[in-house]
Order: sequence, then structure tokens, then C-alpha cells
Amino acid sequence: MPHYKIAIVGAGPSGYFAAQALQNSVTEDLTFSIDMIERLPTPWGLVRSGVAPDHPKIKTVSKVFEKIASEPNFRLFGNVELGKDLSLEDLTNNYDAVVMATGSAIGKKLGIPGEDLANSISAAQFVPWYNGHPDYADFKVDLSGKVAVVIGAGNVAMDCGRILAIDPKELDETDTADHAHQDLHGSNIRKVFISGRRGAEFAAFTAPELRDLPKLEHTDVYINEEAIALAHKNAEAKGEIEKHLASNLEAMKLIAETPKHGHPRSLEFLFSHTPKEIVGSDKVEAIVYSTPSGDVTIPCDLVVTAIGYEATVIPGVVYAAGKITNIDGRVKDSNIYVVGWAKRGPSGVIGTNKSDAAEVVKLLILDLKDAKASGDIAELLSDSHKIVDQPYWVRINQAEVAAGESRGKPRVKAVSVPDLLRLGQP
Ligand code: NAP
Repeated sequence: MPHYKIAIVGAGPSGYFAAQALQNSVTEDLTFSIDMIERLPTPWGLVRSGVAPDHPKIKTVSKVFEKIASEPNFRLFGNVELGKDLSLEDLTNNYDAVVMATGSAIGKKLGIPGEDLANSISAAQFVPWYNGHPDYADFKVDLSGKVAVVIGAGNVAMDCGRILAIDPKELDETDTADHAHQDLHGSNIRKVFISGRRGAEFAAFTAPELRDLPKLEHTDVYINEEAIALAHKNAEAKGEIEKHLASNLEAMKLIAETPKHGHPRSLEFLFSHTPKEIVGSDKVEAIVYSTPSGDVTIPCDLVVTAIGYEATVIPGVVYAAGKITNIDGRVKDSNIYVVGWAKRGPSGVIGTNKSDAAEVVKLLILDLKDAKASGDIAELLSDSHKIVDQPYWVRINQAEVAAGESRGKPRVKAVSVPDLLRLGQP
């Protein structure tokens, strides 16, 4: 009976969904051993380091991941970095197939003057900072000014804008990293703009996220009604308005119509504002936009760019346009496959990765030939290398959750790699 060894690189949603698709494909005649390799000592990818802490429901998908990980044909190799602890060849030689699920972690650049000034940061830094990603444990966000501008009209921009604009008390019972929670409590930011370069009809926000905004208790949210009316008109001129756009515009209208309370904190959406220049002598002082009615300058103290992501390059893998070069998830002339954002680019919600990974795994199974005799990667790692296997991770997870209990939080995250490793020590 053919038994295949499959490596999955990256323990985020698309990696787990690839593992699940393999597990679902097991028959009497076809079985798999699945090894998931993850650079960090913690799995779950953006469910841990991307999803906003005030959206805990989205994180419940981690239960599905843990179920997948508890199957006997699954092993976690956390704290193991491809390109450092293991080479791509180690994987392609020792496995029948290698699935890259490495995501997109680098923030795209605007390419405008002033973008590199101090206090001009990327969502690719800000989000992992407030979520306790070890790479951003020492990152500093200057929240001493009053006005922040978030560039981009997608859900990541909305997460960043909301986290900056809400009363930090609303984060007290969340798993926001302690360092960020403390800084947000001391934040002077009171006015936050989220800007889209095109009209509201092109905004990439989704309606459920927009509908959450009028519920904010301590922040007034503004959208210009004329901008929504114009978006409606422009969309109608092109034919029937699609369902998702209609619900977006309706959700925006609800925001516009919600009575304002004169809260000191505000979040305001701007449309048809194309960033032209970030101005400042040694740090951000203002942003200049070009708009249909001419240039507009908004004085501000912090700029967060949330305009999409690119994949981090892994040696030995061919990339183009921020993605791993692939055809339907197959990487040419190799036993490598790719799923998730590394395959498609940075689009889609967590669930999108499930059907996507299932399609790629179907092709992978079609391609499988004779199973290779292969070694165990555990033997390629030095004896002293601390592998975070599933039981090790379960101990980290339990310790974080236990630390949260006394503080009314779902968990208290350990942020540095040494702290995480200590937490899970047997
Ligand atoms: P996104 O949805 O693709 O939005 C990116 C935004 O950046 C777009 O508004 C785009 O405008 C704008 N942009 C791109 N280049 C720009 C430039 N040079 N200047 C100004 N604006 C520019 O990407 P995202 O927000 O990073 O989200 C990625 C995916 O994760 C999305 O599918 C999103 O729905 C998902 N996500 C979901 C949730 C959730 O469900 N709660 C939370 C976070 C993320 P144009 O349209 O004009 O190009």
C-alpha cells in the first residue's frame, strides 16, 4: 500500500488546510505522513500574528488546526527554519512532496517621497507588533502624536485604523501583546484617517468588518455620505450593483448615518485620496494626497501603509510578483507545491485557503509516483536543536492560556523566542 511522506513548510491556515486535505484523502490504499515545518516556536500563522485581537471569533479556527495536528500522521517541527536549519534540498530529497505554505509577510511599498521617514511604518510591522510576533518584540511604534493616517482601503487597513482609534480599554480582555497593550494605553492618537486611492465602490473592505464600526463605544466613525452616493451612482452606471458591493455601500451608509457622540476619538474614511508625498524634516509631519479637487495636505504624526504584501523569498524557490512562481500550485520541474498567499498573492479570508489547498492537494496526489525511500529530517537537525513538536507547543499554548485566566484574557502571549521555548520546557 503506497505511503507517502509530505512536508508542509509554514504552520499558518493554508498549511493546516493542506494537511487536512491530505488527511481527508487517506484511503486503504493511500496513506501519508505529514511533517509541518515552522520557523517560529508557535504555529497558527496569521491566526496568531495577523488577526486583530479584538476579533477573537476569527481565531476559533485554531481549534480546527489543533484537531488536524492531533492526528497520528501529523508531526510539528516548530522552531525549525528552512534555509537555516534545513535546506530546501533536505526537504525535496527526503519527502515525496513539499508544500510551501509560507504566506506573504513583507509590506508593499508606496514608492512615494518621504515613505522612509521615521513614523512611516507598514502594517506588516504594526500588525505583528500588536500581536506579539517575536520578530517585532523590539519594534517601537511612536504613539506620542495626535493624528494617524492609514493608507489602503482593505481589511488590514481597517484593522490598523481600528486598533489605533479605539479606547485601549476595549483591548483589556484580548490577547494583544503586553508591550503593545501598554503603549496603546499611553497613546495620544485621537484622530485616525483611513484613506483609499479610489472611490468607495472600489474599497476592498468587507461588509461584516464595516458593520462592526458603528458599534464602537468610544470612537466616532465618519464616512462622507456624498462619497457613498457617488460610489452608488458610479457603480449603477456600470450595470446592476453586485451583492457584495451593495452590502458594503449599505454598511458604509449605516456608518455615515450613525449619530456621533462627540467622542475625543475619531476614525474617518477618505476616498479618492492618492498618496503623493509624506512630508517631514526628520519624521512624519504631514501627508499630501492628490484628489479630484486638487492636492490636499493632512498634518499627521504617524503613517501606516496597508496596501498589500509580498512573499518573503526562500533560497532555491523562484518568485515573481511577490509570489512563488507556480501553475495552479505546481512548481515546475520539482516535487514542490504551493498554497495560500505564497501561491495566489495576499488575498482572501482564512477560509479561502481551505478550498485552495484542497485543489492543490488533488494535483499533488495525481502527480505522486512510487514512494521514495526517505530519511527522517529529525536526524538532519543537530542534537542540541530545540524542536517544538506538537506536545511542546501544547505546553506553550496551555501556559499562555493559564497566564491569561487570572487577567481575564484568552491568553498572555510570550513574545521572544527564548521565552516561548522556556514556557514549553518539559
Ligand atoms: P487588500 O484587500 O488587497 O487591500 C489593499 C488596499 O491597498 C486596496 O484598497 C488597494 O487599493 C490599496 N493599495 C494598493 N496599492 C496602493 C497604492 N500604491 N497606493 C494606495 N493604495 C494602494 O489587502 P489587505 O487589506 O492587505 O488584505 C489582504 C486580505 O486579507 C484581503 O483578502 C482581506 O479581506 C483579508 N483580511 C481579512 C480580514 C477579516 O476578515 N477580518 C482582516 C484582515 C485581512 P486599490 O484597490 O486601488 O488597488
